[in-house]
Amino acid sequence: MTHELRPLPYDYNALEPHIDEATMRLHHDTHHKAYVDGLNNAEAKLKDARDKADFALVKHWERELAFHGSGHFLHHLFWEVMAPSGKGGGGKPTGELLKQIESHFGSYDNFTKQFSAAAAAVEGSGWALLVVQPSKKHLEILTAEKHQNLTQWGAVPILVLDVWEHAYYLKYQNKRGDYIRAWWNVVNWREVSRRLEAEFKK
Ligand code: MN
Repeated sequence: MTHELRPLPYDYNALEPHIDEATMRLHHDTHHKAYVDGLNNAEAKLKDARDKADFALVKHWERELAFHGSGHFLHHLFWEVMAPSGKGGGGKPTGELLKQIESHFGSYDNFTKQFSAAAAAVEGSGWALLVVQPSKKHLEILTAEKHQNLTQWGAVPILVLDVWEHAYYLKYQNKRGDYIRAWWNVVNWREVSRRLEAEFKK
């Protein structure tokens, strides 16, 4: 299954004068498209690696997968969370969202101040994000420098392996590969399935 670049949910000039048409065209048609193409390519190369059982370049393609995947999913979200000013864009949140923002940040004003300050403080290129921790129903403001650092924003982990040295060094010392091989014997697939099905039901 390949990823595709969906058209913007509004015209290229719909966010004028706040965001100009030329920027929107370049940003969506060129930059976002490059992430989609890069993600499809990384997925194809990893399929190739699995088919040939040759993982010599796995580090490179995992990095590409994270970089382009995060780029694709974050831009998709970025387009969706904007709308023309006065026609769905701007104003203030209401209802449950406002209640949650006030409960987690003290007030809507505090929230926008922290979000704006966090966005302005990102070093180099990156993002400011309002996130929900689904398991705790908790709101936070996070920032991302660049946007990948080996993850794809929006992804929900359903199986994780700790490869910090503290997780294996007493028994396996520097032989991380032996620890990884042994770990497959203790995976709780029932729990992993439960988490997969919970996400697919959303
Ligand atoms: Mn961008």
